[in-house]
Amino acid sequence: MRKAIFARVVAALILLSASLSFGAISADRLKAHVSSLADAKNEGRHAGTAGAAAAADYISKAFTELGGQVQRQDFGGRRTNIVAKIGAAERYVLLGAHYDGQGAGMPSASDNAAGVAVMIELARELKGRELPVSIIVVAFDDEEQGLNGSRYYVDHPLYPLDKAQAAIIFDTMGRQFMDLSSWTMFILGTEYSKELSAAVQKRIRPELLVAGTDLIGPRSDFAGFAIKHVPYLFFTHATHKDYHGPGDTADRVNYARLAQDSQLIAQIVEDIARLQTQPKFLETPSYPPDEIATLQHELELVEKERKDLPQAYRLMFADFKARLKSDNSRELRRIATSALLALATPRLSGFMVNFFLGPYYERENRRDIAAAVYEEALKWETDPSERRDLEEKIQALRSTAK
Ligand SMILES: [Zn+2]
Repeated sequence: MRKAIFARVVAALILLSASLSFGAISADRLKAHVSSLADAKNEGRHAGTAGAAAAADYISKAFTELGGQVQRQDFGGRRTNIVAKIGAAERYVLLGAHYDGQGAGMPSASDNAAGVAVMIELARELKGRELPVSIIVVAFDDEEQGLNGSRYYVDHPLYPLDKAQAAIIFDTMGRQFMDLSSWTMFILGTEYSKELSAAVQKRIRPELLVAGTDLIGPRSDFAGFAIKHVPYLFFTHATHKDYHGPGDTADRVNYARLAQDSQLIAQIVEDIARLQTQPKFLETPSYPPDEIATLQHELELVEKERKDLPQAYRLMFADFKARLKSDNSRELRRIATSALLALATPRLSGFMVNFFLGPYYERENRRDIAAAVYEEALKWETDPSERRDLEEKIQALRSTAK
């Protein structure tokens, strides 16, 4: 009897330790990576600086610890991609994230120390799952000034791109989109592959929002893979008030949610790794069916939570919500997404508001909305001559508005 109980206790302990050591991406490990990479001594990891080189060493060590053969791919100006292959199979899934940042005074924790942390811990997790493919991890340098590391990599791949089952890219992770109360993770790129789309749909949850890449444009390291027709997925928690600012600190990243989402991504990547046939890149994108619902949901959430919404956004959002019901154009969806991204980081919104949203409403002949949009731009414009131009534009629009 005693023996039986003892055996049962041992069995339970073994089960417990198994469930603790497998199938759990550690929030603590994610935090340790982000805190190290975003540490002030790395001075914001601007490409070509000593801080970026120190980050590269850290990542190199982490890849070695995972049992990968680490290679450094220098591409001039003291810039270097860090690449490692884990596993012996020729076919592989590539995990990629940029490690450079905004420079001194900008910890660049969510963008993109967190993406690098997710990449490292996913590789650790997937390594234990005996996948039929290898995992290739690539930490890209110099993303912030024009996706330079990933562009160089796809032109000089260390492993043939046609052996890639998929490229899975992470950028700007671990903060709540637009500082809203709800947690959302965006997945882009499903429009270029039926197989990857199916893998995502199999794991879909309410907090996962699937959208076409064209809604944000070629804004991260997936762009090079798209050009080379490598099927890809892009994961992001998207932008927030501290994006590209001094407030993007390691302590503001939500590690519990980051770990939870990494676990979900691990399932999706495992499913992709186990596909019998290699995913094909679709020449003609097939956009996700829920995009409009996604946009409507985000617009409503913002209206509900942001009581201080400036007039320009109130007018635009009311217009989007009405027209998204019947207007199926990609342009309207892109404009609505741009407005959301502009509002997410008002500090950086000037360009989008001034050169994208304003002109759009002028073309649409909605002069009342265009005027409000330029008034919003005026709030953030400091250059005196630009301010004068905006003021004249507003006056002209107001005098002829209905
Ligand atoms: Zn980034």
